Amino acid sequence: MSWQATVLTLFPEMFPGPLGLSLAGRALDGGVWSCATHDLRQHGLGRHRAVDDTPFGGGAGMVIRADVADAALSAIDAPQDMPRVFLTPRGYPLRQKDVSRYAQGPGVVLICGRFEGVDERVLKAHSVEQVSIGDYVLSGGETAALVLLDACVRLLPGVMGSDASGIEESFSDGLLEYPHYTRPATWQGQDVPEVLLSGNHAAIAAWRQKQAEEITRERRPDLWSAWLARREKNEAAAG
Ligand code: SAM
Repeated sequence: MSWQATVLTLFPEMFPGPLGLSLAGRALDGGVWSCATHDLRQHGLGRHRAVDDTPFGGGAGMVIRADVADAALSAIDAPQDMPRVFLTPRGYPLRQKDVSRYAQGPGVVLICGRFEGVDERVLKAHSVEQVSIGDYVLSGGETAALVLLDACVRLLPGVMGSDASGIEESFSDGLLEYPHYTRPATWQGQDVPEVLLSGNHAAIAAWRQKQAEEITRERRPDLWSAWLARREKNEAAAG
């Protein structure tokens, strides 16, 4: 059975968008995954099919109504154990481990916010996970949903060319990945690090590990501290 993505959105025409191309597009055409959209507007109220209203307590902007979002969530055909995920800058940061969890399951139901977001009560009523793709504010949840789907789809069995490319990646072992080089060996006066031309696999692995550690320490102190703590724990456990 294929991995199933269901997207609740006011802009169904944004899907599959770029995910209809390249690796994800081939997997979509091949039936590895499916991408269904559900238009929130269908459940809008009145002649104008309004989906939003002003926030209680005042303030700028509009909020997607609980009854509208509830009708959409209740109308979709997705198994109960499939995660319901609301994309929001207020959510828990999306990590590679979350992506793996979603990819290993039957699929995801994604709710794309617009305006100021969605009434909190409906998220609680449907046990919706709240996930952020980064510390910045997008105009809508659709591009965030595409990011989440891209990250999941490439992990589905058979989607990536070589399984090794999934194992040796940034975040797979808690570190960012080492830098890459290809031909020509000298380009605009810059040489490829000599060790990579040596054919000495142990030396190459050691060089890559050191590079990964240095880059992580410099660029992501948060990941670096966590990695050091994990290494210490493993060393203590090994005696
Ligand atoms: N007022 C909201 C806040 O400050 O949390 C931002 C609303 S934003 C303009 C509209 C929608 O874009 C959100 O409801 C959410 O679905 C989506 N969105 C914006 N930034 C996001 C992010 N970093 N991660 C995931 N979704 C995001």
